[in-house]
Amino acid sequence: MAEKKTIIEKIWEDHVVHRDEGQPDLIYIDQHLVHEVTSPQAFEGLRLAGRKVRRPDLTFATMDHNVPTKDRENVKDEISAKQMDALKKNCADFGVKLADMFHPDQGIVHIIGPQLGLTQPGKTIVCGDSHTSTHGAFGALAFGIGTSEVEHVLATQTLYGDRPKTMNVKVNGPLGAGVTAKDLILAIIAKFGVKFGTGYVVEYTGEAVQSLSMEGRMTVCNMSIEGGARAGLISPDEKTVDFLTGRRYVPKEEEAFRAISEKWLSYATDEGAAYDKTIEIDATEIEPQVSWGTNPGMVVPISGATPSVDAVDNKDEITRALSYMDLTENQPITSIEIDHVFIGSCTNSRVPDLKNAAEIIKGKKVKDGIKAIVVPGSFLVKSEAEELGLDKIFKEAGFEWRDAGCSACLGMNDDIIPAGGRCASTSNRNFEGRQGNGARTHLVSPEMAAAAAIEGRFVDVRSYTTEEKIS
Ligand code: SF4
Repeated sequence: MAEKKTIIEKIWEDHVVHRDEGQPDLIYIDQHLVHEVTSPQAFEGLRLAGRKVRRPDLTFATMDHNVPTKDRENVKDEISAKQMDALKKNCADFGVKLADMFHPDQGIVHIIGPQLGLTQPGKTIVCGDSHTSTHGAFGALAFGIGTSEVEHVLATQTLYGDRPKTMNVKVNGPLGAGVTAKDLILAIIAKFGVKFGTGYVVEYTGEAVQSLSMEGRMTVCNMSIEGGARAGLISPDEKTVDFLTGRRYVPKEEEAFRAISEKWLSYATDEGAAYDKTIEIDATEIEPQVSWGTNPGMVVPISGATPSVDAVDNKDEITRALSYMDLTENQPITSIEIDHVFIGSCTNSRVPDLKNAAEIIKGKKVKDGIKAIVVPGSFLVKSEAEELGLDKIFKEAGFEWRDAGCSACLGMNDDIIPAGGRCASTSNRNFEGRQGNGARTHLVSPEMAAAAAIEGRFVDVRSYTTEEKIS
C-alpha cells in the first residue's frame, strides 16, 4: 500500500532537485513573485555577476508597499519613488513581467497572485515578503524569502531549504454566525501563542476550515507567519478548483484544465497521513476577536477584557503593552474608543471583505471625529467592488475610497496613523509603530472594523447582523 502523505510532504518531495544526506535540499520554485522593496539589491547582484533571470516566465512583479493610494501621479516620498523606478528598470532589463502602479493588474502581491491564477495547488511559490503564506490557501507551499534568496531564485529558479516539519491545526466544529476567518486565525494565535508554528509548515484542517470561502482561507493562511510558522496551507478541494477556473494563467482548454485540476486535487493530504504535531481548537467557542496589545497573540474575544498583570507570567511584556496601548488592566474591550479605521491589507482587502463591511455600513454614518479609509487590495478588486456599488456605500457613510496598495498596514506615504491615534485595522500586525510612530493598532475583521467606525468603539458585530445582503 502506498505511503500516506501530507500535502506538505507531497509538494516538497515533488520539487527536490538535489539532496545530500544531512544537508538542506535544493528545491525547484514554480512561481517567483517580486515587489519593489526586497528586489533592488537582488537584481543588482545579478547585474554585478553578469547573470540573467533564469525563468522570467515564472517571475511576476508588481508594486505594492510604496504606491500612494491617492494622487498616484505624484509620489512625494523620494525613497518610494526610487524603489519603484528601480523595479521598472530591472524588469525591463531582465525581461520580467511587471504590473506597475498604473497597470490594471497592479495590487498587493498576495492579492493579485490568486486573482491572476498564478497561485495554484501543488506549486512552490516564493516572494521577498513574509505574508507569502497567503497563497497556501490554494494548497501551494508558499513562503517568504530574504533578499539574498530572492537573488538565488532569480538566478537559478531554485532554493536551498530544510525539509519542513508538519503540523496539523485542526479546527473542530463550525464557526458561529457573524464569526469570520479573521476571528478564527486571531483566536488560534491567541490560544497557542505567536511562536506555536516555529519550525513547522502548518496545514489547517477541519470543518470550519473546509467551510471557509477561498478568500477566508487566504485570510487564515496569511497570518500563519504571525504564529511563527514558515508557511500555512489548506488542502485543495472543489472550491479551490472553482475559484481558479477561467483565471488568466490557468489552462482554458477543457482537456488541459481537467488534467491540471485532477493533478491539483491529488496534492490533498491523504486520509490518515501522520503529522509531526497536531493541535486542536473548537470553532464553536470562538467569538469576534479584537487585539488589545502589541503582538497578534495579544487578542481577546469582544466580550472580554485586557489581562490582569497579576494573572500572567510575562508581567513585564503585558505591562509594557498596556502602557503603549494606553489601556488599563481588566479594561472591557467594548470600552475602547477608536479614532481611525483601516479596511485593507493582504489579510482583508478582497471583494467579499469589502462587501461584508459594506453590509454593516450601509445606510449608516461613520461617527464624527473618526478618519476611516478603505483600500482595495488590487485595481481589479477596486473595479469589481465599484460594479457592486460598494464605493458609494462607503463614501456615503463617510469613508475615503482609495486606490490599491499596502497603505496604512505599514504606515506608508500619507496613510499614517498619528502618534497616540487608535486604529481598528483589518491588517495583520499590531507591533509598536507599525502604522506610524506612536500609533495604536487593534486587529479585527472587516465587519468588526465597520461596526467600530459607526459606534466609535468596539462592539459585538453579531448585534449588527443584517438580512440585507449585497448581491
Ligand atoms: S499589506 Fe501589509 S502585510 Fe501585506 S504585503 Fe503589504 S505591507 Fe506586507
